Amino acid sequence: MSNDPIRQVTFGDDEDDMWLYSRFIGELKRRVPQASSHVIGYSEKGEPIFGFVFGGGPVTVSLLAGAHADEPVGPNTLYRLILEMHANPDDFAPLFQRFRFLVIPHVNPDGDAANAPWITRWPGLISFITEMKRELPGRDIEFGYPNMRPENRTATGFWELEGPADIHFSLHGMQFSEGYLLLINDEWEDRSRGWRKQFDAAMRKEGLEPHDHDRGGEKGFKYMGPGFTSTPKGRAMKAFFLEKKDPETASRFHLSSMEFHLGCNPEALCVVTEFPLFKVRPSARNGVPENYLELKRELEKMGAKQRPKEDEVNRLVSRYDIQPLPLGKAMRLQRYSIRLAMKLADDYHGNSQK
Ligand SMILES: [Zn+2]
Repeated sequence: MSNDPIRQVTFGDDEDDMWLYSRFIGELKRRVPQASSHVIGYSEKGEPIFGFVFGGGPVTVSLLAGAHADEPVGPNTLYRLILEMHANPDDFAPLFQRFRFLVIPHVNPDGDAANAPWITRWPGLISFITEMKRELPGRDIEFGYPNMRPENRTATGFWELEGPADIHFSLHGMQFSEGYLLLINDEWEDRSRGWRKQFDAAMRKEGLEPHDHDRGGEKGFKYMGPGFTSTPKGRAMKAFFLEKKDPETASRFHLSSMEFHLGCNPEALCVVTEFPLFKVRPSARNGVPENYLELKRELEKMGAKQRPKEDEVNRLVSRYDIQPLPLGKAMRLQRYSIRLAMKLADDYHGNSQK
């Protein structure tokens, strides 16, 4: 698999040039004739949402990014992948024979524009802390399927036309974490047991330990061991808040993109990647990421103030050993995760057909 083009990268680990969605569209229009024929719908503010189909193989792979616009590594990974697939289709020919890719590089263009002030200054920690914008439940696109927002309706329409998918990836990220976290749908917990060991070994080789957070099944997040949890379920979020006698919050949760795809194909493998923008020193205790939780509490306290002082932020950096995960490396890990999960599903289906 070393010559596998989805794992090859044309940038180094030191790449730190985080693109905005607007730059991707500019590059796309410059390099791809009739780029606008790939527009599948529009955001609330009228920005185009692009969807691409590559390959013609029997296994359909959905790649989606951008639901949380404060997590720009997923979209950046797909921008580069799309441009490479367009530029070098011959390199991807073996993959395109086996797989068919449905790619939505950014499902939330308005959110990208709202986060532009810090994305263009990444990895500046102070501008991230002060200018990051996150949409809350009721506006959160990941929990808005099938039709909460026009962005959700756009993606759903594309998948209904081109799907169903056998594998669905929603590329996310964490603002801060102690290492890698991968979310897999419950249906694949047993099937991925040996595979998860392989994934863990590969991440440790890259210097990333698991982000080990056992939430005791809260909000439907089932713990599958250090670094692994089940994918989010809008239905479980709804039930959680109904149980807390909070029907108002419960009503803000709809289906996640994973639940939508599982509704179309119950056998689908669904994966959510969660790599940190900023890595935090790993905690010693099993199942409790103490450093991460403490940092979140400190940041929340700081959030009440206007702008944190530089020495305050520097204290956090040394106390929690906060380091940006280099963009080139983060994109490489995203692509590696995609390819390894494709292999998991392909091996499973190949074996079950024998
Ligand atoms: Zn996210």
